[in-house]
Amino acid sequence: MTELSAETKMQFLFALRSKGVTDTRVLEAMEAIDRGRFVRGLFAERAYEDMPLPIACGQTISQPSVVGLMTQALEITPRDKVLEVGTGSGYQAAILSRLARRVYTVDRYRRLVREARELFETLGLVNITAILADGSFGLPDQAPFDRILVTAAAEDPPGPLLAQLRIGGIMVLPVGQSDTVQRLIRVRRTEDGFDYDELNPVRFVPLVEGLGKDG
Ligand code: SAH
Repeated sequence: MTELSAETKMQFLFALRSKGVTDTRVLEAMEAIDRGRFVRGLFAERAYEDMPLPIACGQTISQPSVVGLMTQALEITPRDKVLEVGTGSGYQAAILSRLARRVYTVDRYRRLVREARELFETLGLVNITAILADGSFGLPDQAPFDRILVTAAAEDPPGPLLAQLRIGGIMVLPVGQSDTVQRLIRVRRTEDGFDYDELNPVRFVPLVEGLGKDG
């Protein structure tokens, strides 16, 4: 691993700011977590560019600015217990772990969960638990959650996830079909129901039911 140069780091943060990531705590978390650790092989040298990149099991690590915007939209406080659906490389979970008390992250691929766990341990991120599970059902054992982040696109917000959101809680997720336009939406749970607002257009891999076969 080559040491990340100050210039690369500055350009990375500048790109985030220019795309609307302005929350200081989010920027600090993204400065602290080296995306280069989460991208392997051929694409590793492009880790600091603002683009999604391929990871194992045919999945992708999200674009840094999208990670920043989603994290910002969650309005995380240091007391929060957060669920992430779609561990992938573990990058987003690592960012969340800097902002929240506790992070649970689930993925349907055993290999991705294993590799992410290894990285969290290496990086000393002790408040993340990575679990092999179909995240469309949430994580009933640990519910309710203060914040939920879904990093794969569903057609609608999955019912079990809405049910596992604490009153006053926030969920951010991309909705829409994977081959058409998806929108990031934010759901706030109130005493009487759910309030929705639409954020920016995005493109994510689909939320797929059942566990995956590691390839
Ligand atoms: N947040 C990740 C990127 C996620 S890519 C990162 O920071 O790198 C989307 C991930 O969602 C993939 O790893 C995919 O396997 C996972 N996924 C899709 N459907 C799922 C489901 N039903 N349950 C859990 N994970 C799912």
